[in-house]
Amino acid sequence: MRAIRTRSQERIFNLLKTIKKGISAQDIYVELRNTNQSMGLATVYRSLEALKLEGIVQVRNLANGEALYSLAQQDKHHLTCLQCGVSIPIHQCPVHDLEEQLESSHKFKVFYHTLEFFGLCSQCQVNQAEKGCQ
Ligand SMILES: [Zn+2]
Ligand SMILES: [Zn+2]
Repeated sequence: MRAIRTRSQERIFNLLKTIKKGISAQDIYVELRNTNQSMGLATVYRSLEALKLEGIVQVRNLANGEALYSLAQQDKHHLTCLQCGVSIPIHQCPVHDLEEQLESSHKFKVFYHTLEFFGLCSQCQVNQAEKGCQ
């Protein structure tokens, strides 16, 4: 079952495909305007909402209340270093089985899940240890 997309949804979908990280609705609006594909901010929000319910766009809410949109990740997880910001992909998913269990026990269609690990990468740990010695 695949919903028919409007031209606005298609444009946003194509834009998100070219952007590797999350982007706010406001920035999507600006990006589209810069590439002569202008649409109103309300349309941007409406289209994002529709894409979200289709399961192909995911939203991540930051601590500052900003919502970042990106294409729904196909089960990719990362270790993110809080110091230098490096993002290390991990090639396994500890909750994959759980997801299937939940789908059947709750008759719930899971589109995606997120799982993030934050801390210090090995290089930053070394740097921090060196700083401590001085
Ligand atoms: Zn680091
Ligand atoms: Zn996963």
